[in-house]
Amino acid sequence: MTLTTRILIGMALGLACGALLQWLALQESHFLNVYFLHGLIAGGGEIFLRLLRMMVVPLVLISLTCGAASLGATGKVGRLGGKTIGLYLLTTAVAVSLALSLALVVDPGLGVGEVESEVYTAKEAPGIKNTLVNIFPDNPIKAMADGRMLQVIMFAILLGLALNAAGSAGQRILAVFEDLNEIFMKLITMVIHVTPYGVFCLMVTLGATVGLAEITKLGVYFFTVVFALLLHMTLVYPTFLRVFTGLNPLTYLRKMREPMLVAFSTSSSGATLPVTLRTVEQRVGVSNNVASFAVPLGATINMDGTAIMQGVATVFIAQFFGIGLSAEDYLLVILTATLASIGTAAVPGVGLIMLTMVLDQVGLPAAGVGLIIGVDRLLDMMRTAVNVTGDGMVATVVASSEDALDRDTFRDKHAGAVYAAGN
Ligand code: ASP
Repeated sequence: MTLTTRILIGMALGLACGALLQWLALQESHFLNVYFLHGLIAGGGEIFLRLLRMMVVPLVLISLTCGAASLGATGKVGRLGGKTIGLYLLTTAVAVSLALSLALVVDPGLGVGEVESEVYTAKEAPGIKNTLVNIFPDNPIKAMADGRMLQVIMFAILLGLALNAAGSAGQRILAVFEDLNEIFMKLITMVIHVTPYGVFCLMVTLGATVGLAEITKLGVYFFTVVFALLLHMTLVYPTFLRVFTGLNPLTYLRKMREPMLVAFSTSSSGATLPVTLRTVEQRVGVSNNVASFAVPLGATINMDGTAIMQGVATVFIAQFFGIGLSAEDYLLVILTATLASIGTAAVPGVGLIMLTMVLDQVGLPAAGVGLIIGVDRLLDMMRTAVNVTGDGMVATVVASSEDALDRDTFRDKHAGAVYAAGN
């Protein structure tokens, strides 16, 4: 059985089990609640998330140092960086424009009845200057300990370049990093084997706790976001991929199923990063020097799905409060949502915090976020899947333009596939 099938079974069983618990109101039983839901299941889910997160910082450091060292040798770092960041910003701007257009056609905020608004106290969103300054670490160890991805990325790039420039000393250390990289890839494969179980636990919790009442009330908003996400995934990404690489988008989407499912279950592109990186390198065929740079950077700054939610939410909140937005306001939304996605940490729910920054820019009340919190959990899962698909797509396009894509690997259905444990 392929891993994807096993993950899907884990998901379906988990959701069914959780929904059954909710339906029979069994989570109110003390035993089931304490020992099963909050014990075994919550613990299992947390262990899975920890295993994924455990690998993120060392993996990015090691893999990107190797990548930057080999890029340093070709002198392509600047060009590659420019292309990657440019494409990330472009896809995000397209995403939010698509979301705004769709929302303006659907009018999700008109005729919505009473919505129970949760009190939402916005945390301060970081300003643009701080976002930029914060890319540079003053203490790389602290950056790693705190999991500050952009700082770790910056440090790894500089370290890789220095290794390349340092002659034989650099080569000796680089050889160690390359060995470590291989070991880490093996470690990811090991962790990937437990994914179906981890996903099962996360889905039981979801099935047992998610309420459908809010979704019915905010149905138009919810489904507009879902539809925009689907359009972006099935139309925009395939078009980019086809136009820039000539590759078959269906093969790409099929190969990305595992990171998508992990992103969906964890709601965190950061936690999914090890799986995304492995897939992009070993299944899609992007070489290490492009993937190790583009994928972690994408997980950190590229949030197309999040930008889509922010576009639709802005229109929804404006319409709900009866505040008209001008054409300039919409342009401002596109600009801020694109920039906000850079500052959005790749963890669950942060998209909402950054939404307050977008709302602020166009004079909408930040309290509007409280209206949509109720349905955000499910949307977070879906948009995170879109976020990671976009990271892989840009990495593939950049690799193709740099002649760093192995097309045979891309075409080979079995390349890098994980089957039953032990393979
Ligand atoms: N959960 C998203 C991610 O990690 C971020 C967000 O939209 O809140 O990609």
